[in-house]
Amino acid sequence: MINVTIWNENVHEQDTGKIGDIMRGIYPDGIHGYLKNALAADDLFIRTATLDMPEQGLPDDVLNTTDVLLWWGHAAHAKVDDALVDRIQERVRGGMGLIVLHSGHMSKIFRRMMGTSCCLLWREVAEKERVWCIDPSHPIAKGIPSSFVIPHTEMYGERFDIPQDGHIVFMSWYEGGNVFRSGVAFQRDMGKIFYFAPGHETFPIYHEEYVQKIIANAIRWAAPVCEIATRKCLHEVDSTEKVYSENPLANIDTSSLHKAVE
Ligand code: ZN
Repeated sequence: MINVTIWNENVHEQDTGKIGDIMRGIYPDGIHGYLKNALAADDLFIRTATLDMPEQGLPDDVLNTTDVLLWWGHAAHAKVDDALVDRIQERVRGGMGLIVLHSGHMSKIFRRMMGTSCCLLWREVAEKERVWCIDPSHPIAKGIPSSFVIPHTEMYGERFDIPQDGHIVFMSWYEGGNVFRSGVAFQRDMGKIFYFAPGHETFPIYHEEYVQKIIANAIRWAAPVCEIATRKCLHEVDSTEKVYSENPLANIDTSSLHKAVE
């Protein structure tokens, strides 16, 4: 069983104007509630969490029992506590999977894990997007055709400032001419991270069959292989094999080199 937590800032859903009406029409239970139902499967235990919940939805007893965390944020990135970002980062380093959706590219946790600005180009004119699967052998691409169309989308375009170690699984072309690395997989310490761009809030993109399938595949791919453990900086260890090399500094105490200066 994979313990999945879908975190959503749940801000646009509360909008009292037309945007809120559109969103509630597409996602009556919020993006998080919709994804929970859409992704339901026998091998997944899925919870949802939102920014307005106590401890921003991720107290220790939730985060520390999460194998894969999904993250949807947009308008409230700055409201996420830095201390929570620290805790999520440590959990990812220990092996928790992290799936960052759409506008989560600017979330604190994604930028923290990437170490880059994660800036991109965007345009919202409801244009068509064609998502190309460029690594059909990747586990996240299982069952996905060579390309599929999202009829109306928000364009996200290059240059996308992410590190070059990302493994590109999907690339998108947009009607207006831009291209984008729309599905990219990373490894950070013991944790796997997948960024997936489709998911603009005012179009029913999470209703799309292949979009759901990609997220479902990503959850299985990102699930930890080993037990998740806190990753501390490793300290001095004894050698496993006997060291025969003669130490020319054997008579000198070098321990002060390894102490932080006061
Ligand atoms: Zn958007």
